[in-house]
Amino acid sequence: MAKLTIKDVDVREKRVFMRVDFNVPMEEKDGKMVVTDVTRIKETLPTLKILVDKGAKIILAAHLGRPKGKREATMSLAPVAEKLKEMTGYKVSFVDDCIGPKVEQAAAALKAGEILVLENVRYYNEEEANDPAFAEKLAKVADMYVNDAFGTAHRAHASTEGVAHIVTKRGGKAVAGLLMERELKFLGDELEKPARPFVVILGGAKVSDKINVIDRLLEKADAILIGGAMAYTFKLALGFKTGKSLVEPDKTNVAKAALDKAKARKVQFLLPSDNIVAEQKDTGKVNKKGKPVFDIVNPRLNSSDNIEGEAAGFDIGPETAKSYAEVIRKAKTIVWNGPMGMFEDPRFAEGTNAVAKAVVEATQKNGAKSIIGGGDSVKALNKAKLGNKVTFMSTGGGASLEFLEGRVLPGVAALQDK
Ligand code: AMP
Repeated sequence: MAKLTIKDVDVREKRVFMRVDFNVPMEEKDGKMVVTDVTRIKETLPTLKILVDKGAKIILAAHLGRPKGKREATMSLAPVAEKLKEMTGYKVSFVDDCIGPKVEQAAAALKAGEILVLENVRYYNEEEANDPAFAEKLAKVADMYVNDAFGTAHRAHASTEGVAHIVTKRGGKAVAGLLMERELKFLGDELEKPARPFVVILGGAKVSDKINVIDRLLEKADAILIGGAMAYTFKLALGFKTGKSLVEPDKTNVAKAALDKAKARKVQFLLPSDNIVAEQKDTGKVNKKGKPVFDIVNPRLNSSDNIEGEAAGFDIGPETAKSYAEVIRKAKTIVWNGPMGMFEDPRFAEGTNAVAKAVVEATQKNGAKSIIGGGDSVKALNKAKLGNKVTFMSTGGGASLEFLEGRVLPGVAALQDK
């Protein structure tokens, strides 16, 4: 069911409490925290523009990092409010709390079209606990609730769920922002009846993270292409040797079940036929977290289905990349989540880049709808400067995976239906 959005409601002169994703990367420079990437702020601007133009009194709530219920100065949203002001020229003010008299006074002083940014909601443990009394305190300044933070919609927290329920119980509206609306459209509606062939590309570290998505999409997809370390758990399930590759031996049964389901449903299920392998060498050093640091040495092509001895697979090989690209180029709908290898290291990025190029080609030349399910695939596309050449890139990592699994996200469920 489609959700009400800010376009469906009258916001003039109303105090609109909006949950946004301002969890931006920051760095300390000359003793001050500065925002190093404004992407997430930028993504809220279309929704903010509508609210400002329509004369809402806007109150923005967000979390930053993991302060675990404490006032961590390095996780204050003050620099984000500053940045938002600088980027938009809007009248933006900041209050150093998210509940209480100071917030109520600042909200009462807001004029139509003005924005108040609240301090980090995770300075209170009650936020993540979805504490009803805390949600009441947040909701005190809200005539209406908007959620534009898809990336946290899979969490039932006070600012993502609790406030929405309180506002609606009072007879107010709880609606989606434009970014949230786009996420629901592409990850949800557009995949209800996908144009065919529908090709799903899944990579990343673990089968256990993606198995529910695989299971769900096996019911819709024409082809599923597997890369990343998770491919090796599938190979192990088929009886191949995987050397020292990152595998989950206790997940071979679920991998096997997925392979059987693919066969039964006649879904093309492709695994790598060649790999880039290397050895991990212990440096004797430990990192900040006390974990041993390894060097990855002697990268080379392994054209066999088996990976022997001390070698581990770190990327799909050129033959696999070529055959995956052929399938992708013919697709009309594409969902991609997870890199094909350890793409952060350029020696193991070629498989991911080849898939990225094929996805772009299918989109640009074949008119395919390409939906990138957040996380590292978005990073990889941006790194290759191809981010603007696909149909949609999700802003959610965990949230987009859960949504693709067909799960109800509490932050979405709390919004009103059209
Ligand atoms: P995920 O968060 O599950 O999408 O996994 C992404 C991470 O998996 C990235 O940091 C990759 O470096 C890592 N990764 C992908 N392929 C491999 C591989 N073959 N071996 C080790 N790590 C990998």
